[in-house]
Amino acid sequence: MSSQAPHSTLLIPGPIEFDDAVLQSMSHYAESHVGPAFVKTFGETLTLLRKLFQTTNPGSQPFAISGSGTLGWDIVASNLIERDEDALVLHTGYFGDSFASCLETYGVCATQLKAPIGERPSLAEIEQALKQKQYKIITITHVDTSTGVLSDVKAVAELVRRVSPETLVVVDGVCSVGAEEIAFDAWDLDVVLTASQKAIGCPPGLSILMMSERAINRFKSRKTPPGSYYASLANWLPIMQNYEANKPSYFATPSTQLIRALHTTLSQITSKPLAERFAIHAQVSDKVKAAVAELGLTQLATKPENQAHAMTAIRLPEGMAAADILPGLGKRGVIFAGGLHKEIATKYIRFGHMGVSVTDPGRDDIDKAIEALKQAFAEAKQAKGL
Ligand SMILES: *Cc1c(COP(=O)(O)O)cnc(C)c1O
Repeated sequence: MSSQAPHSTLLIPGPIEFDDAVLQSMSHYAESHVGPAFVKTFGETLTLLRKLFQTTNPGSQPFAISGSGTLGWDIVASNLIERDEDALVLHTGYFGDSFASCLETYGVCATQLKAPIGERPSLAEIEQALKQKQYKIITITHVDTSTGVLSDVKAVAELVRRVSPETLVVVDGVCSVGAEEIAFDAWDLDVVLTASQKAIGCPPGLSILMMSERAINRFKSRKTPPGSYYASLANWLPIMQNYEANKPSYFATPSTQLIRALHTTLSQITSKPLAERFAIHAQVSDKVKAAVAELGLTQLATKPENQAHAMTAIRLPEGMAAADILPGLGKRGVIFAGGLHKEIATKYIRFGHMGVSVTDPGRDDIDKAIEALKQAFAEAKQAKGL
């Protein structure tokens, strides 16, 4: 039995349902952020991040900083590229536009390579773009949470290494880390940024990054200082290195309770082979997608290879809007999200299936949601005369 108050099941693409032990770690008594117990917990948490990202390279550098996933974009934009330099942004939805705006905020020239809704830029298009300019970074949204489109990070990284080896490969993994496979070393990535509240299953409030030695060296060889104070790696790098070396250190007060929750969830996640975790997310995703197809509904991403495994963006039939079906789901104790892609926001809904809702055999969140979707869809069709 869960110790949480009864509540509707939260199946949006983050925040997600919490494990009791993760939540309970947050009711830890007040402690000093430079006291030995917290220093040990923070240090271990950073080491656990290495496991989560599958990196054993001692040059890789983990970060966990108070802020939401968005802070990761500011960290990249203000430290790893300079004003007037070029960034190539692969666009698979809303989050590509936002990452590009963040880069532009710091004076970076962001070129977006866009694909139609539900698609992703092809490797041939990316290769052509990379040959046109000397891009300092390329950004890939691993799973665009607005469309449910999955990108092939491994293939893009291979391509970049072949045709533009100096370009840093930056992955927005906010909706993928913890659900989709990411092999930081094997795929030779430079940055993977994420947030605490999606597939990692921790409350919102932490920006989490892994950076390669190549990325850190790019920062160290900047010609101009970083364009941000809070986001500056000059401030954070020694802090993260000290905590992992079990030494107290201060730049800005860490969220001690959130770090404890992250420690708990990462301990749980890494106590089993990651391959098992990715496989169960894929199995549950197949089940959800089969149920959606059985209802005669389609996804924004029509090609199976473009479909994320931690969420499904379900296109509604002509004449039905998200507002016609979300209340019916709510009435049945299930919360889905509406659309986010501005061109079609009212025409689809998003079902997040990640974390404990998928991995905990003691829960029936997914079956309950599929049943609620069937009933609410039938009800909405009837109400709309469809
Ligand atoms: C949620 C999300 C973000 C933004 O994260 P916040 O924690 O809301 O700041 C960025 N990119 C992707 C792909 C996301 O899903």
